[in-house]
Amino acid sequence: MAFEGLANRLQNVFGKLRSKGKLTEEDVGEALREVRLALLEADVNFKVVKDFIAKVKEQAIGQEVLKSFTPGMVVIDIVNKELTALMGGTQSKLARSNRPPTVIMMAGLQGAGKTTTSGKLAKMLLKQNHRPLLVACDIYRPAAIKQLEVLGDQLKVPVFSLGDQVNPVEIAKAGLQHAKDNGNDYVIIDTAGRLHIDENLMDELKNVRSVVDPDEILLVVDAMTGQDAVNVAESFHQQLELTGVVLTKLDGDTRGGAALSVKAVTGCPIKFVASGEKMDALEPFFPDRMASRILG
Ligand code: GDP
Repeated sequence: MAFEGLANRLQNVFGKLRSKGKLTEEDVGEALREVRLALLEADVNFKVVKDFIAKVKEQAIGQEVLKSFTPGMVVIDIVNKELTALMGGTQSKLARSNRPPTVIMMAGLQGAGKTTTSGKLAKMLLKQNHRPLLVACDIYRPAAIKQLEVLGDQLKVPVFSLGDQVNPVEIAKAGLQHAKDNGNDYVIIDTAGRLHIDENLMDELKNVRSVVDPDEILLVVDAMTGQDAVNVAESFHQQLELTGVVLTKLDGDTRGGAALSVKAVTGCPIKFVASGEKMDALEPFFPDRMASRILG
């Protein structure tokens, strides 16, 4: 399960706190030290942890809390509230353009799960009675186009492709026109990834962006890579002004550092999380539900 380690540790700390009844400042301080360690071990960004603990401490070490009937519960509530805020507070919904089609541009490094997520997103939209079109702009990764076509076939979602000999910018432009001509109200553009961030990649993405003027630029990052995912998100956000992040492979992420740091570090909200290879393994991200899951 995602966050297993962190969830276990925090539940342990708070179990002790709850069972104590009356609390002293030292008890709260000790608990927060353990929370701090648990977050660091979960690979949450160092500065994020520091700010988080400071915010909780400010509220938790006060006479009002200590004198309450259930001080342990009050401290846990504060942690819950701050964890939720850390991950963005409220759910950040997918954009919907007043002038359809809504254009969603997918970006990310190779292997992060961009093509798979494009398919999942198409399936989600289809279920909501939309008419998505997938556009295959990843002309570099062998078989990426085929992979998208297979997914489209399986989901019964049309896939627009011009093969791998046409410039991605041209494909994106033609794909958007195709959507307009065929009444698709969402266009999902699967762009090319690279193994590492490089200038060519960013230039290409900027060029695609300028011809399709996306309503959403979603960065797909692999949660299992922890702080690397956060660094990748920061670089992409600086260059492309992302509108959201999709965290994939949460099923294999036992630590949770990326999920807890992305918003605080980049300012960019997590919009979806994926926890499996199957096409229905994509969910909107709810910060409050995630916080409750971590705290048990
Ligand atoms: P791309 O290069 O970014 O387009 O990556 P792909 O969409 O081809 O995905 C790379 C690999 O990750 C594939 O084997 C996917 O099945 C797998 N994958 C994608 N999302 C998830 C996920 O949420 N969980 C797991 N376990 N695997 C995933």
